[in-house]
Amino acid sequence: MDAVQEFKQRTEDKVRNLRCPHHRQAPRLKFHGATLRDVTIQMSGCCNTLIEMANRAIAESPKSL
Ligand SMILES: [Zn+2]
Repeated sequence: MDAVQEFKQRTEDKVRNLRCPHHRQAPRLKFHGATLRDVTIQMSGCCNTLIEMANRAIAESPKSL
C-alpha cells in the first residue's frame, strides 16, 4: 500500500463510525491528488453538523497506532 492509500484508509477509519445525530447519515469523503503532498479531502454530508463532526474527527491526531 502506498502512502496515499494509507492516508485515505486512516482518514476513512476516523469517520467510519460517525453518524449525524439529526439524520443518521454517514459522511462521505472524496480524495483528490496523487501524492501525499497534494492530497485534499472533499467532504459531503447531509448537513453542516455532520460535516463539522467529520472535520473534527479527522483533525484529531490518532490516539494510538
Ligand atoms: Zn445531518
